[in-house]
Amino acid sequence: MKVDHVGIVVASLHDALPLWTRLLGEPSAPAEEVPGGGVRVAFLGSGETHVELVEPTGPDSPVSKFLATRGGGIHHIAFGVPDVDRALRDVEARGGRLIDRRGRPGARGRRVGFAHPLAFGGVLVEFVEEPR
Ligand code: ZN
Repeated sequence: MKVDHVGIVVASLHDALPLWTRLLGEPSAPAEEVPGGGVRVAFLGSGETHVELVEPTGPDSPVSKFLATRGGGIHHIAFGVPDVDRALRDVEARGGRLIDRRGRPGARGRRVGFAHPLAFGGVLVEFVEEPR
């Protein structure tokens, strides 16, 4: 299982992009709003593993509280898997809590699903379905 990306919450993509672009180069695609996700994201990095910058789209965004209490920073780690539903079922079968019981549409047209941070010692884990 490879690390697909590391999610970093920022207050503003506009403000954060120049900093991260100096390190990783220009994003390969324009920033996009995740359908129903309350966030706008941009992916950077040309290797197998990317950095996902995550900006809340409003005060009810799932990352607004994280931003308010921690001021942004590393938010989640995402693993590439062949089957998101199966990865989530495996976590649950081992007694781990889930945020998503099934995969749902995520950024870059890929299906994603989140385990609960309690399932991985306080780390928010995302599964991203690899393109077939
Ligand atoms: Zn992510």
